[in-house]
Amino acid sequence: MNDYIKQWHNLILNCSFDNTYKMVWSKALVELSVNVSDEVDKDIIIFDFDDIAKLCLKYYWNQTIYFDLIQSPNLKKPPEILNHIKSLITHFFDAKNSVHPVRFEKIDFNRLQLIDKYEETVKRIITTLKKDVCWRFKILNSNTYDIYELDRKKGKVYFKRQDVLTLKQNSDLLFTFINYRWTQMLEGFNYSPRISRKVRAIDENNIKRVSLKKFHKYLDLMFEDSKRKCFYCGEEIEDSNLSVDHVIPWSYMFSDDLWNLVYCHKEENSEKSNRLPFEEDIIRLENRNIALLERMENATKEYDQLQMALEKNYVKQFWISFKG
Ligand SMILES: [Zn+2]
Repeated sequence: MNDYIKQWHNLILNCSFDNTYKMVWSKALVELSVNVSDEVDKDIIIFDFDDIAKLCLKYYWNQTIYFDLIQSPNLKKPPEILNHIKSLITHFFDAKNSVHPVRFEKIDFNRLQLIDKYEETVKRIITTLKKDVCWRFKILNSNTYDIYELDRKKGKVYFKRQDVLTLKQNSDLLFTFINYRWTQMLEGFNYSPRISRKVRAIDENNIKRVSLKKFHKYLDLMFEDSKRKCFYCGEEIEDSNLSVDHVIPWSYMFSDDLWNLVYCHKEENSEKSNRLPFEEDIIRLENRNIALLERMENATKEYDQLQMALEKNYVKQFWISFKG
């Protein structure tokens, strides 16, 4: 490994677990290096805090709006950047009149008349980057690594040309280090399942919600007269109004499992990503699963999975961990 990359490697993989600021900071610098031309003829390449802050906002926005991942060990005092971003997300939901998550890259803050709020958020992120992050990232065990120069007043980062091109050439490797360390940190303060898959899916722009139609044939086993009833209100559901709901939210589980799926009226299928199910619904879901297993053909993959979910008590376990 090149000496310069070795320094980055050390800083990324050994930085402390206070919060994940150093992850967004380093990731933004690497992403900006990718845009530098190989033929650049300046000796010093300058990155602006404004561009860095916008990338930090993008990373945190996507992790928060889809999965509400916690970014520091202190639940009572979340990192201030996160507070600003959550407030921007709230404004976004209000403007859209929907809590449906949307990737940052797809949002036109101008059209939503949120450009002022957006710019204010960027400014606040810059303040924290200047105060707490930019210089701390260079320090490990009280050694300062000479990987870039800073002008905190002007909000600029200065790289030697060769260094920035080395970053660019090794960007895939560095993104892998950063995501690995970030996942490690997130696993320290989040109890939701599939953290590494969530981090990767966001990075690869690969958050697909697949059709749940393939579960109909199992869910239908509960309704012999082919009149499907809503899990929540108990009323019959017209075909045009039928939807399949994750009782423990999809954003938490990031998985479609028969043991967690029920029929419900479309309008009751909460889009809200972090709704906490009532205990009585959890008990009814457990009973539903016992009854459903009896009706299923055994020796199929779905049967085995449902049986395991019952044996391992997944409904209660995941509900308790989601409740926190
Ligand atoms: Zn209903």
